[in-house]
Amino acid sequence: MPNKLKIFNTYTREVEEFRPIKDGEITIYCCGPTVYNFQHIGNFKSFINEDIIIRSLRYIDYKVEHVMNITDVGHLTGDNDEGEDKMAVAMRREGKKSYEIADYYTDIFFKDWDALNLLRPNTVCRASEHIEEMINLIKKIEANGFSYTANGNVYFDVSKFKNYGKLAKLDLSKLKAGSRVEIDKDKKNHQDFVLWFTRSKFTNQELQWDSPWGKGYPGWHIECSAMSMKYLGEKFDIHCGGIDHVPIHHTNEIAQSEAATGKAWVNYWMHMEFLCVDNEKMSKSSGGFITLSELIEMGFRPEDYRMFLLSGHYRQQLNFSKNALENAKRNIDKLRTQYFKLKSESTNKKNISEKYVEEFKAGILNDINTPQALASMWKMLSDDELDADVKLGTLLNFDLVFGFGIKDWKEETIDDKEAINLLEKRNKAREDKNWEESDRLRDELIQMGYKIEDSNGSSKLVKI
Ligand code: AMP
Ligand code: ZN
Repeated sequence: MPNKLKIFNTYTREVEEFRPIKDGEITIYCCGPTVYNFQHIGNFKSFINEDIIIRSLRYIDYKVEHVMNITDVGHLTGDNDEGEDKMAVAMRREGKKSYEIADYYTDIFFKDWDALNLLRPNTVCRASEHIEEMINLIKKIEANGFSYTANGNVYFDVSKFKNYGKLAKLDLSKLKAGSRVEIDKDKKNHQDFVLWFTRSKFTNQELQWDSPWGKGYPGWHIECSAMSMKYLGEKFDIHCGGIDHVPIHHTNEIAQSEAATGKAWVNYWMHMEFLCVDNEKMSKSSGGFITLSELIEMGFRPEDYRMFLLSGHYRQQLNFSKNALENAKRNIDKLRTQYFKLKSESTNKKNISEKYVEEFKAGILNDINTPQALASMWKMLSDDELDADVKLGTLLNFDLVFGFGIKDWKEETIDDKEAINLLEKRNKAREDKNWEESDRLRDELIQMGYKIEDSNGSSKLVKI
């Protein structure tokens, strides 16, 4: 049985034994949303997977410092400096100012975040509020000889950085020949990227700041390097994000951070696989995306979506379908029924099954294997050797990782008068030992969609 955390490090493509920089503590940075539109449930797959990773790290007793950014400037429609600023697109679409767009979508993002029961990061930082830190970092990169200025823009020169593309295992020669990139004649190498724009292609760019290179605004990647280092130090433990960030965004983050400090930056890279629709990544550009509100309108609860995600590993693609969600919903229904039953049977003693906690932990330590951890939960719940107190205590303990928010679940009150009336009649029939009549009433209730749960001398209706 393993007793050490093992995680898959994208940087080495290996499952490694995790060793924190500082004993007992973990510093972790996760790339946050670009607030120019709604975040869809695909984006939230990454955030929920990250939430479960962070919950797991805390569960195994690490003190975790979690930082996430909010991108409200500089992210172009193409990750490699192609296209238009996403915020500018939204401004045109909605006829609003940049900060109004950012505030509006940030607000909705955190409403969904809370509804999905994600833990708030220790620090949430907005790009537009950290321009000074970005400028200082670009100055260091420039002083170390990794940048050049062409036609007003400051570029990172990838040919100067020895390990460029190591994270993504990029073969630069192949990329150069085959890639379809908008030609920017000012770039020395295809993979060079903008650190600071001044000669904007968008003359109406609303957000601009003074800088040593002229009035302008930052490239997208520099914000994550500048803000993570500000809040976590020049070297930290884990950097997370969606798998799409490997070839460009994270590759460029590494290059510019290490060019600025002259030392290795992040120890472990963890990437979340996509949520797909018909085997294609769910994305805003393809139009076929679903938001949490839409999912709720379809009759699902936030915890149903969590259950759906937990049934896969964070490094596994999941295909969204109504069927798959219905399956997850049934599992949550089953869990709710079991939870309320245990609650009514328990004597409020907080007992825990060491055996199942060990088994559950083994799943967590195995690269946060949530399907394995879920299997332990179902096994524990159906173990006849355990009493209600132990089952309840162990379930709530596991929920520290799952994050269903079980302890706050409220039982649905049933106000179906006809059903309540039948239940009372059935109870009376039982008191009179009229078993035939009591069975008949029980079956009638089942026909109406209710089952009866008897415990501690009382009985109640539960929706089937
Ligand atoms: P964005 O707002 O586009 O910067 O994306 C926010 C986060 O969602 C990033 O970490 C992306 O990698 C991630 N992401 C985008 N689409 C998906 C998807 N279909 N499945 C999982 N994660 C995604
Ligand atoms: Zn980032």
